[in-house]
Amino acid sequence: MTTSLITGANKGLGFETARQLIAAGHRVWIGARNPDRGQQAADQLGAEFVRLDVTDDASVAAAVENVGALDVLVNNAGISGGRIGPSEATADDMRAVYETNVFGPVRVLHAFIPLLEKSEVPVIVNVSSGVGSLGLAADPDGPWREANYPVYASSKAALNMLTIRYAAAFPSMRINSVDPGFTATDFNRHRGTQTVEEGAEVIIRYALIPPDGPTGGFFDRNGAEIW
Ligand code: NAP
Repeated sequence: MTTSLITGANKGLGFETARQLIAAGHRVWIGARNPDRGQQAADQLGAEFVRLDVTDDASVAAAVENVGALDVLVNNAGISGGRIGPSEATADDMRAVYETNVFGPVRVLHAFIPLLEKSEVPVIVNVSSGVGSLGLAADPDGPWREANYPVYASSKAALNMLTIRYAAAFPSMRINSVDPGFTATDFNRHRGTQTVEEGAEVIIRYALIPPDGPTGGFFDRNGAEIW
């Protein structure tokens, strides 16, 4: 049976991803930093719970011991850091968001890659965002002209570079970034225009990718590459 771990899976897109991977027949670990919220989510779905705070080395190391074997890792946990414009953004704002959105995935990858290397079909999905696309940001007619929040956007751009570099380093693994699109969750106080089912679609597609599928890509819901 394929074993999957999703970080930040106690709610939102991570929870929906867990639900759909269970429906696809996976054994799923709900990674959550809060034990009550994590266990409750796992019980609701018939998943396993593992405490995992992506900002904490000891919790990630303990999660590796608990999980033991892994085929699919979904780096989903993320924070927005709020709507901070370019003239307000401080180094401390950056550090706080990068700690979860960039150093978090690095911490989790570093700890779990030895387990993934033992899998026959290892897969990593990094949950990014369209606002992390350099191409779309540089386009004067691009969709994000009004939403100029460099802290969060640059954290997802950094995550996308990690996708490229790790994919090059681990050719036996399928490692991709995906953009779920603007989805109604606590993340945006439910202003998102998509349902979690719609948002999780692309995460599921790249979590279930076959061994001859693409790696090192950055895809939106429509399957377009959006670097
Ligand atoms: P959400 O509902 O706020 O869920 C975020 C999840 O991440 C929660 O489970 C949260 O746990 C967890 N988390 C935060 N910090 C963590 C940490 N240090 N360690 C472990 N877990 C942590 O947000 P969402 O919309 O589902 O977002 C999921 C991912 O999609 C994020 O990476 C986000 O950037 C990305 N994304 C979202 C949208 C959108 O429109 N919603 C669009 C593009 C990309 P707690 O409950 O403990 O806080």
